[in-house]
Amino acid sequence: IVRMQKLNKHFGSLHVLNDIDLEIVPGEVVVVIGASGSGKSTLIRCINGLEEFQSGTLSVDGNTLKPNGKSSKALQTIRTEVGMVFQQFNLFPHLSVIDNITLAPMKVRGWNREDAVNTAKRLLDRVGIADQADKYPSQLSGGQQQRVALARALAMEPRLMLFDEPTSALDPEMIGEVLDAMRELAKEGMTMVIVTHEMGFAREVADRVIFIHKGVIAEQGTPEQIFSAPQNEQTRSFLARVL
Ligand code: ATP
Ligand code: MG
Repeated sequence: IVRMQKLNKHFGSLHVLNDIDLEIVPGEVVVVIGASGSGKSTLIRCINGLEEFQSGTLSVDGNTLKPNGKSSKALQTIRTEVGMVFQQFNLFPHLSVIDNITLAPMKVRGWNREDAVNTAKRLLDRVGIADQADKYPSQLSGGQQQRVALARALAMEPRLMLFDEPTSALDPEMIGEVLDAMRELAKEGMTMVIVTHEMGFAREVADRVIFIHKGVIAEQGTPEQIFSAPQNEQTRSFLARVL
């Protein structure tokens, strides 16, 4: 569903992604790990067109993005088909939970309010907060807000979900409830790319773990290979620091 070939991304003189080749098949759960500043966020932001790239090719579900942002039609399609959950929940503070979730399906997909509300309620139930539908984001805990953000992304019926450190801003006691919701999603067969520092979670849900070092995929493999028998020197020293 994702095909990236020789993708290069620069911020000015900074070469942030260097000849990245990455293919992701439907249903695959890919966890991206690496040190701060290694390019993890930039990589997943390229996948949904939040960042332009300067050379290489990228196609997502058959929609091809060209270098330097010259592909607005494909970009629009990709934005509707790819869901993203950020570290900071990015909910609309002036909208209730239910309105946060129904906004995009009504506006972008043209659903009527009744269908959108029914779907939103089903999704809230699925992430375990059916009783919070009429609250505002500020009235919810961080863990609840992040589950609303997840439900909001799922309401668009995405073909692919991207997560950028979805639990990093949460108090420790709320991390589990968000990881549980993500684990369920993975079980149901959603294609997911997850940047996380939760190594236990990565080990458990990932089909493949990718280690990024200075904008290069330095090593990738099954969780077993990466966590139990890393081959690359940088992977080893990274894991020694975080495990
Ligand atoms: P972290 O674990 O801290 O989130 P990361 O692996 O996600 O790090 P990126 O955010 O992808 O790293 O950043 C990669 C590099 O690109 C860093 O050196 C960063 O300073 C730089 N960078 C990121 N965004 C921009 C930007 N908008 N303008 C200029 N440089 C940027
Ligand atoms: Mg990041």
